[in-house]
Amino acid sequence: MHESKTLPELFVHELCDAYDSETQLTKALRKMASTAQNPDLEAAFTGHLEETVGQLKVLDEVFALLDQKPKAKHSDGIAGVLKEESGDQDDMPKSAVRDVVLIGGGRRAEHYEIAAYGSLIAMGEELDYAEACQKLRGILAQEEAADKKLAGLAKKINADAHKESMAKA
Ligand code: ZN
Ligand code: FE
Ligand code: FE
Repeated sequence: MHESKTLPELFVHELCDAYDSETQLTKALRKMASTAQNPDLEAAFTGHLEETVGQLKVLDEVFALLDQKPKAKHSDGIAGVLKEESGDQDDMPKSAVRDVVLIGGGRRAEHYEIAAYGSLIAMGEELDYAEACQKLRGILAQEEAADKKLAGLAKKINADAHKESMAKA
């Protein structure tokens, strides 16, 4: 719930949600990297963690462009995505099947972000926040690339998980 009564207020509110999402994701991506068995998956999470740290800096710049500061706000949306993902695999040993759970959780998080930044950019275009939009488009491109990377890795890792499952059966 929020108190945004105008489009500019809503823009800042959603920017705060994005800021908290990225903050939660820095923690989550570090953990996901350390729980991945496949080295390419670990590298994908570590690489996107570095990008996420950069995204927080870009968001600081967007807040500054609007003469605003990030307000403390808990993003229940991304928290729910991350809770679902960790609940599914927290007590599993490293395995290809667990990697598949991590990919699904990672992709859900990326899609949440893609929707959030897409909405922000559409609002910002209406509000003529050209410079802010340009910065947000840079973040959006990273989220889309991260999702594609995970989708690509899933091909090999799903096959590994299938083989692993047959060996156990
Ligand atoms: Zn809200
Ligand atoms: Fe992000
Ligand atoms: Fe992301």
